Formats: sequence, C-alpha cells, structure tokens
Amino acid sequence: MHDVIVVGAGIVGLAQALAAARRGKRVLVIDRDAQSNGASIRNFGFVTVTGQERGRVWDLARRSARTWREIAGPAGIRIEQEGFLLVAQREEAAAVIDAFLATEMGEACERLSADEVAVRLPGAPPATGGLFSPHDLRVESRTAIPLLAAWLEKAHGVAFLRGVAVLHAETGRVHCTDGDHRADTIFLCPGDDWATLHPEIYAEAGIRRCKLQMLRLAAPGWRLPAPVMADLSMVRYLGYSDLGEAAALRSRLEREESEALRYGIHLIAVQSADGSLVVGDSHDYAATPDPFSTQAIDAEMLRQYEAVLGAAPPVIERWTGTYASADGHSIVRTPTEGVTLTVVTSGTGASTSFALAEDVVGGIFDS
Ligand SMILES: Cc1cc2nc3c(=O)[nH]c(=O)nc-3n(C[C@H](O)[C@H](O)[C@H](O)COP(=O)(O)OP(=O)(O)OC[C@H]3O[C@@H](n4cnc5c(N)ncnc54)[C@H](O)[C@@H]3O)c2cc1C
Repeated sequence: MHDVIVVGAGIVGLAQALAAARRGKRVLVIDRDAQSNGASIRNFGFVTVTGQERGRVWDLARRSARTWREIAGPAGIRIEQEGFLLVAQREEAAAVIDAFLATEMGEACERLSADEVAVRLPGAPPATGGLFSPHDLRVESRTAIPLLAAWLEKAHGVAFLRGVAVLHAETGRVHCTDGDHRADTIFLCPGDDWATLHPEIYAEAGIRRCKLQMLRLAAPGWRLPAPVMADLSMVRYLGYSDLGEAAALRSRLEREESEALRYGIHLIAVQSADGSLVVGDSHDYAATPDPFSTQAIDAEMLRQYEAVLGAAPPVIERWTGTYASADGHSIVRTPTEGVTLTVVTSGTGASTSFALAEDVVGGIFDS
C-alpha cells in the first residue's frame, strides 16, 4: 500500500514524487510509457530563471534552480552549463536589457558592452550589447530525467510502474490497464495528454498543444560560455516582453523578422558535454499538431543561429516535441477529494516544476 500515487513520470510528476517522499510518504509513480518519452526529455534542459514572468513565475524558477543544484550531485546529474548569456543584436534590444536590469529581476546580472559580448563569443557577428545572468543552468534532459527517477527510487524508496496507463482516478484509487492501485492521495501529472484523465478540465482551461522543432548541431570546436538567447526571445519571454521598452523592439522585429515571428521562432542555443549544440525553437499551436519537421522552419532557425553565433555546424539530429499550452503558468485543480491535477501550461516545466511541486504537495500535507 502506498500513501501517494503520482501519474506521469515527466518532470512535473517526478517533482511531486520528490516533494511527497521528502515528507515521508510512500510513493508510487505510474507511467504509460516503458521509458521517458514526453516533453521532459525532448526539451533543452534549460532551467531558465532570467526572463521568466515577473513575480510568482520568476520566484518559482529561482526556487526550482536551487533544487536542481541541490539534487544534481546526489542524483549523479551533471550541470552542463551555468549562467545565461542574452545577446542584444539591435539597439532596441539593448534598451530592453537596461530596463530589465533596473528591475529586481536584474539582481546579480551583469550588463555587457558590445566588446564584452565579442570576447565571450569570438567569431560571432557584432552585437550591440548583452546581459550575463548567474541564475540559470542547463542539464541534459534525456539523461537527467532517467537519473532523477533512478535516484528517487534508490534514495527515497519511490516505486515505479511503467508501461501501465491510468484510465480513471477517484478518491483513494486509480483504475489502470493492469487493475486498480490504491492510495489516499493521488497526483495527476499527465502533461499534454488529455484524452484519458479529466479532458473537461483541459477544455475549460483552453489547453492546446504547442509543437516545437529542435536541432542538434555537430560540435563546433569551441565552448559556448552559457546558454544563449537573443532579440526574438525578448518579445517572447514575459520577463522582458512585459516591459514598456519591448514595444519598440517588437515593432522593429515585425518589420525585419516576419518569417521568424510567423513560425514562433526565437533562438535558444545550449551545449552538451560532447560539444554538440542543441538549437531551437519554433512554436505551432493546435489541438493535435502534425508530428513532422518542416525544412523551412529548420532553415529559419539556422538563419537565426548564424545571425547571433556565426557559421552553423552540420545538423546531426532533428526532433519535435509538444507541451500543454494555455494562458497562465499552470493549472492546479482538485476534481475529486484526494485527487489533484497539475499541468504546466507555459512551456517552463524544467524551470519551475520543483517549486510548483513544493507548493502543491506542501499545500496538502503541511497544513
Ligand atoms: C521541445 C521542447 C523544448 C522545451 N524546452 C524547455 C526548456 O528548455 N526549459 C523549460 O523549462 N521547459 C522547456 N520545455 C517545456 C517542458 O519540457 C514541459 O513544460 C515539461 O516537460 C512538462 O512536463 P510534464 O511532466 O507535464 O510532461 P511530460 O514530460 O510529457 O510527462 C507526462 C507523462 O505523463 C504520462 N502520462 C500521460 N497520461 C498518462 C496516463 N493516462 N497514464 C499513465 N501515464 C500517463 C506520459 O507518458 C508522460 O511520461 C520544452 C518543451 C519542449 C517540447
């Protein structure tokens, strides 16, 4: 008998399993897939603090980054990169950086001149300035998520049942493809799969899927000093785009980068231990987006890479991923007593799930 059942072994579910196990609960995690396959292993592994929406989301990200740093060693997860470099390609983007630095979110961040960016990114086209933040970090999600699950099992006694789909949840039990499992407290964390568990809640919250295209480029022969973003990110990430100064940047990008904006592209480039680069991304919204990569989108993402970082190495891998998307950071609902559904709806699960889990699970057990 378990005290807690968590449905979904993505980052949202694993974070809730950790929060429950830390409170002394006996936890069972159930996932329909034999191994990690969802958004949580398809992402950049970029734990983004800088640029998250001001207030609660920024705070969730700061707290979650602390948890990543705390558990990485014990769980055997390598922190691939520390910090974050935001490159201003245009004067209007440099003005957004200055406005950002004047807020509390700029704490401990460093304003970089054009020359200082050039030192960090030799061989890149000239920038107008930049920002370096010490708050952010990157893990290699495709290994970090399985390592996190293995550590939860070994160090916290969390049990895993894989290859089992949960068909229905009610107070005190879940009905699964292998029969029933019982626990007093049930956390549903099924990500963007709303076919089975509470489709009515997803519908009421207006949740759709967001499809992203991703590329891995061969090792360029140099190290990226930190994950990199640039001008297009400053009109996407609410921590920048909500600032008044972002309006001028947006107008200029609408004139100069209509193709990128049409595909929802902004540049994120991160680097892995073997030197290869993960580069993206694009955003396409639908109830069921098609699963195919479009060459025009890949070409536009590579054009953005070259505009910020210089000549692009060959593409060695391509994939797509989807996440649940709606207005607002996340939804937390209690459809039945003892059953809580949590969905991160802002594409920030790697960055915010640990703190969100503390709030959700702590809200139930700590009172
Ligand atoms: C390409 C891409 C890049 C991204 N980059 C970043 C990034 O750099 N930083 C960041 O913070 N966020 C990023 N995100 C967003 C982030 O990955 C997601 O917000 C997060 O992974 C969502 O986690 P999850 O656990 O809800 O979903 P998932 O990882 O999809 O996990 C859900 C799990 O639930 C299981 N499941 C569903 N239904 C059932 C059922 N009925 N029974 C049993 N099991 C079930 C599934 O099998 C799955 O394993 C990115 C997303 C994508 C797709």
